[in-house]
Amino acid sequence: MSEKIITYNLNGKSNSIYYEDIRKFSEKILKDSGRDLSVIISDYVKYIVTKNREELRTYEEYLYDVLSAGVYLKVYSNIASSSSRSTDFILSGLFGLRKKNRFLKKYIDVIRGLLIALNYGKKNFNNNYIDKPDIRILKRVLLFLKASGEYREEVIRIQMFYDFLSSLENSTADNYLVNIVGFAIKFENKSENELGEYTSKVNEYLETGIKKHLWKEDFLFCGRRRVEYHLSMLGAELMNKAFDESYSQTRTKAILLPACMREKKDGECKAIKNDFAMTCTGCSLSCKVNKIQNAANIRDTKVYLIPHSSNFKEWLKLWAYGRNVGVVGVACPLNLIIGGLELKSLDIPAKCILLDYCGCKNHWDKKGIPTSVNESELIKSIGLYDEGKEYVHFKSEFSANQK
Ligand code: SF4
Repeated sequence: MSEKIITYNLNGKSNSIYYEDIRKFSEKILKDSGRDLSVIISDYVKYIVTKNREELRTYEEYLYDVLSAGVYLKVYSNIASSSSRSTDFILSGLFGLRKKNRFLKKYIDVIRGLLIALNYGKKNFNNNYIDKPDIRILKRVLLFLKASGEYREEVIRIQMFYDFLSSLENSTADNYLVNIVGFAIKFENKSENELGEYTSKVNEYLETGIKKHLWKEDFLFCGRRRVEYHLSMLGAELMNKAFDESYSQTRTKAILLPACMREKKDGECKAIKNDFAMTCTGCSLSCKVNKIQNAANIRDTKVYLIPHSSNFKEWLKLWAYGRNVGVVGVACPLNLIIGGLELKSLDIPAKCILLDYCGCKNHWDKKGIPTSVNESELIKSIGLYDEGKEYVHFKSEFSANQK
């Protein structure tokens, strides 16, 4: 597999070491945030309470909101400021139209691909340092994120943070933004040192592989920066911490696997489609989805195969608001956080687990490379632990025919 790795690979040293590394890294970032961002986060929380904006979330979730605002400002402010505002509005409108009318998707994708290439294709994504971020630039970045269609849930979070900043004196808001971008820059440097070995191919891909996506709708999705992979890795950790209590109290669990984990292609895979998700029928003993499904049966845990779709949230409503089901979401870093935020917005206790690498045929590889997930993390997430009979049983189910 390693010769086919496209951007990131959690099996860098050994898959279980990634999980040790990310846990240590998230502890450090939490500690640093206490020193550098606590005043801002505390003011932000006061604003949310005073304005009754939402049921209060955890520190980890607000840290993620603030850090992601800083990272997107750092990465996209020059591009956002120099691109056409009216094209961004059109792109955003087309994305909304595509969501409402699925049958228009293929036509709208062609138009969006053209507009994205014209608006951003020639921009230098590596030249994004901003000395003096301000609230006006944050607004412009928000418009860019909306236009891209790739940050649906993040936009909602950052919009609320923008509203908070708008409620402050201009000088205070700008000062906060300078601190936040400063923190994002430190985060970028630290994450390259500590997580860089897992994302070592991202920059190479951004130099060469991305060219094939110019004029396509997924140009911005596939062109995500290395720091965004690290942000998602941290985000998954922070969310798991934040959701842990409610998730562990749920009576039943469900596992959502991306369709790119299937061993066989569309047409050969015998999974049954039920309105949105698919259910594996076990047509291949060596398919990882089948193995996970067999093992999950020990806990009466259902496994669903999920196609990549912007309508995922509609389907998630199955489990929304107090249904007592904990949902394990498995996805690549570019999709995982959006899914985690969607689950949270529907009050579904969740656990986020990253795919070991990306490989779906929609974006990364013409034929598709079957992806995989860390078995120990998945085992733990549904209440089967590293010791005892159940684990051994799961392990043998999972590993069967692995060779
Ligand atoms: S085992 Fe399941 S997921 Fe895998 S190819 Fe067969 S039906 Fe599809």
